[in-house]
Amino acid sequence: MATSAEIIEADVAIIGAGLVGLTAAIAMAKQGKQLVLIDSHANRDKDWAPTTDHWDARIYALTEETTEWLKSLGVWHYVDETRVQPIKAMELWEPSRNKPLMLSAEDAYLPQMGCILESANLMQACYQALEASNVQLTVASPTSLIQGAHSVEITLDHQQHVHVKLIVAADGVHSWVRQQLQIGVAFKSFHQTAIVANFKAEQGHQGVARQWFLPHETMALLPLPNHMVSMVWAVSTERAQALLNLSQDELLGEVSNVSEDALGKLSLSGEVVSFVLNQQTAESYIKDRVVLVGDAAHQVHPMAGQGVNLGFRDVMQLASMTTKLSTMQDIGDYHFLRRYERARKLDVVSMNTLTSGLDALFATSSPWLQQVTGWSMQKINQQDWLKKQLVQTATL
Ligand SMILES: Cc1cc2nc3c(=O)[nH]c(=O)nc-3n(C[C@H](O)[C@H](O)[C@H](O)COP(=O)(O)OP(=O)(O)OC[C@H]3O[C@@H](n4cnc5c(N)ncnc54)[C@H](O)[C@@H]3O)c2cc1C
Repeated sequence: MATSAEIIEADVAIIGAGLVGLTAAIAMAKQGKQLVLIDSHANRDKDWAPTTDHWDARIYALTEETTEWLKSLGVWHYVDETRVQPIKAMELWEPSRNKPLMLSAEDAYLPQMGCILESANLMQACYQALEASNVQLTVASPTSLIQGAHSVEITLDHQQHVHVKLIVAADGVHSWVRQQLQIGVAFKSFHQTAIVANFKAEQGHQGVARQWFLPHETMALLPLPNHMVSMVWAVSTERAQALLNLSQDELLGEVSNVSEDALGKLSLSGEVVSFVLNQQTAESYIKDRVVLVGDAAHQVHPMAGQGVNLGFRDVMQLASMTTKLSTMQDIGDYHFLRRYERARKLDVVSMNTLTSGLDALFATSSPWLQQVTGWSMQKINQQDWLKKQLVQTATL
């Protein structure tokens, strides 16, 4: 692959080795593409030593589609399945009602509605699958990007030059590549912060993902193995600050208030972390031999738990197209990339509409709209066919 000490030539350069960039590298290596994977950090947590008492604060809810795809890539083979929790059902609580909207895998004749696992578990598995694919991670930062008619050149900070036909930008929400190309973003602040923490629950969660929708805030208690639950609590930024200043016992009291002790007494395990919640969508996902994937292209509200699934779907789409290319066809061709962009924009717009719509609906102080929300939830509860549709959409 290297033609001289300083120039590397390949088909594709992937910038960013988060979950999305790593899976893009694994998928393209399987297709025999010559590729360079670049990240400014060596992300692998070599010290990840999981114990039954310590759980990663960052967790993901993966859809069935994502899990099946990770299996086909060979990533799932390396996942520690003893630390994966299947989701059997969902309970959506709304304050003016004493009964939740219940959606279960059984409603749609499915064994489960996706699963929950720790970020570190998945990251570790991706790195092992990457090693098995013989792809090396180049730890470096790009300093310049020059687009030509037939190739694109990136210079790295240790003076290597990379010449490729296509750049896959998977460098996250503050994407350097996107900024270099001057691709603007549509940005929306939810003025919310997510507080994330793990708890040991007194009562078994039965594999149920519980979510509470209150005006201006949502709390999810997502099941993990061993009676553990992961809380993702989206609140106004001011309230988040106040909650983060509380003592452990006071915070637990607030969590109990919202969740109405649905799982009995909770005890905090590990650290409490927080993230600011925004929605950001790139105005274009492609430009002159560059394609944006994952958070570089779109950041969504975690309420729907879809961020990483959406990024994986970018890679699924791109890889399903690149696998059909013959060696004579140009992987950086504009019309080819345009087809990718059209397919992905539709998916991202639907996700943004869903999360913004839910946010607006549950944030409303209008008693009339609150009444409609509560009424709709009860109606859905009574309609088996509608529940089946919702479960199928949620587990996609
Ligand atoms: C509170 C919270 C909860 C969430 N919960 C869920 C959930 O339940 N389910 C879900 O699907 N999603 C969830 N998400 C979203 C999910 O975390 C992201 O969508 C996902 O991590 C994006 O992956 P990525 O690979 O695109 O980007 P990142 O993970 O950000 O990776 C980007 C990579 O690029 C590298 N990089 C950056 N700049 C450069 C540069 N200049 N040069 C080289 N490399 C660079 C970085 O080092 C990093 O390795 C959640 C997000 C938040 C905030």
